[in-house]
Amino acid sequence: MPSFVEQAEPESVFSSLADKKRVAILRALWQADEELSFSELHDAVDIEDSGQFNYHLGKLVGQFVQKSEAGYSLTEPGNQINGAIDGGSYTADGSMAPIQIEPACPTCGGQRTLEYEADRVSVECDSCDAMATFGVPPAVFADRDREEIPAVASRYLRAELSRLEHGFCPYCDGRIERHAGPASPEESLDGLGGPFPVVRYECQQCGAEPTSGLTIGLFSHPAVVAFYHDHGIDIRDRPVWEFPVFGSDAERIDNEDPFRASAIFSADGDELTITVDEQFEVVGIEPER
Ligand SMILES: [Zn+2]
Ligand SMILES: [Zn+2]
Repeated sequence: MPSFVEQAEPESVFSSLADKKRVAILRALWQADEELSFSELHDAVDIEDSGQFNYHLGKLVGQFVQKSEAGYSLTEPGNQINGAIDGGSYTADGSMAPIQIEPACPTCGGQRTLEYEADRVSVECDSCDAMATFGVPPAVFADRDREEIPAVASRYLRAELSRLEHGFCPYCDGRIERHAGPASPEESLDGLGGPFPVVRYECQQCGAEPTSGLTIGLFSHPAVVAFYHDHGIDIRDRPVWEFPVFGSDAERIDNEDPFRASAIFSADGDELTITVDEQFEVVGIEPER
């Protein structure tokens, strides 16, 4: 864990970096080979007003910048932030250059790209509308190499889903109620035939309503875990990107009233079909286990 995460909550870390002037101060200290005096540092950045300069510097001292008799220098977290900016994997506003991800889109076989913008990850396909998007605080990615980002994003999404499964809202910790149903017309995907099933996680406190596909919603069901285990696969190690996000052939609505929908899991040519009702209770497992 990067040390700056231990020192403060991610929100306060990144709000203290939210201003471009503060990032400029950190960059100036990174480029200097030695401690800089107050006036040397002020000269090195493009902030004319010395009151403003003093204010922003003050916000950095302690956590990212240290002051000694010789002058100002970076703390280890200050070095880490600069290293991550140089590595191109991180900018202070919670975004990064798009990354291609493997494997191909399970819904259509297209190429997918992971983007991180304004603290949100989006995985989009170049040839269908199946898309995953979810919030991730920048601290999650702060000390990661670019190649690691898709796997880290996957693990973060799994952790969020686990909170939802246990009944806690990821935004406010309020109570979550789950329902399964057909995707609404607004959620329907161009290029995919027919309605497809989704799971809605409805927060009773803040009203948030995250939605997932059935497959992803059933990841930690014991029958699914056991099915993969029997095939020598620990599903916890598999990136979520290997599974359909929404609307693939592996998810179908069996009946509208009463509502029944199924997700089909496959490994080595074997299949496991899990059927759920409107309350997202499992009502059928094929073959029986
Ligand atoms: Zn696709
Ligand atoms: Zn909530």
